Amino acid sequence: MESFYNLSFSDLEGQLKKNGLKTTAASLLFNWHYKKKNISPCVNNVSKDTISYIADNYNFELPKIHTVHEAEDRTVKFLFELSDGRRVESVLIPFHNKYSICLSSQVGCAMKCSFCFTGTQGLKRNLDASEIIGQFLGANQWLRTNRPDEERILNIVFMGQGEPLHNFDAVKKACEIFIAQEGMSIGIQKITISTSGYIPGLQRWKNEIPGVNLALSLHAVDDEIRNELIPINRKYPLREVLDYIDDLPLSKKQFVTYEYLLIADLNDSEAHARELGELLKGKRAYINIIPFNPFPGSNYQRPSDEKADGFKRILGEYKIPTLIRKTKGDDVLAACGQLNTAD
Ligand code: SAH
Ligand code: SF4
Repeated sequence: MESFYNLSFSDLEGQLKKNGLKTTAASLLFNWHYKKKNISPCVNNVSKDTISYIADNYNFELPKIHTVHEAEDRTVKFLFELSDGRRVESVLIPFHNKYSICLSSQVGCAMKCSFCFTGTQGLKRNLDASEIIGQFLGANQWLRTNRPDEERILNIVFMGQGEPLHNFDAVKKACEIFIAQEGMSIGIQKITISTSGYIPGLQRWKNEIPGVNLALSLHAVDDEIRNELIPINRKYPLREVLDYIDDLPLSKKQFVTYEYLLIADLNDSEAHARELGELLKGKRAYINIIPFNPFPGSNYQRPSDEKADGFKRILGEYKIPTLIRKTKGDDVLAACGQLNTAD
């Protein structure tokens, strides 16, 4: 049986119409399941025929929360179990009394970046939209029960396991459901997709969901280092990816975030910072510096805080807004790039 959570609003309207039912029920259903976030069947104001059509054709199963780890800084890591027993992780990242949620888009990842815990397991499978939406709903439900005063998830970032642009259909459908006015009604500008630079996915992003924000995992200023870190750079080299992004039609308020993983003695010198500044100056860019998070068996070292601060200071000279991403949830291995669910 198909999951209800795989239907966008227009899919649902289409299905109701095809089955001779009133399409107005689509708003009621989206309001019930997404705005009010009920998991019980919707019976208010919906015709008997529609209730039985939905009950006979769709399931409302969501990924189950397998384990929850709460860090001292209020970061929460969820391990979700999917219907086939595979597992993915999502992280709630606190700011003030609200949260961003970091979602997974695949079990594992095909890109095999050398610094990434997820990459070490290879791609197991894509998630479908219901499994992406389900991480959000599950985390929301948990917050509602455990931290009732802090229920709000304001931003969605696809920075968990997987390369979101390599599972475009499901990620697009999930975005359509997140932003549907009749349901969660999350502003499209509150959603960010992080990519390793997978150009076929960027092409689809440009044509199909250009309002969603982009973050590019840049991590290096030359192909030699980037090839070592991100193997698909051999196929889609740095210059091509940057040129492609420069040509994207951004809206007035849109910026591209460039993520720069800082690894001790590999890409963290003053010269690297200056090259990065030269590469990005004048662009509609933010830079996020992410000091490398070690994981069991990793071969790279995290640079000192002073080194990261120095790197940021140099970028300031190029007038590019730069943040050092503080590693939240370190004590539960919940920081970015530490997500791995291999058995
Ligand atoms: N596949 C996408 C999104 C998921 S990874 C991408 O690569 O952009 C989210 C971010 O975490 C990326 O910027 C990635 O480079 C970073 N990351 C991965 N492993 C990391 C690690 N060990 N330490 C710090 N950041 C890491
Ligand atoms: Fe995949 Fe991103 Fe990890 Fe690279 S960094 S292996 S693209 S999840």
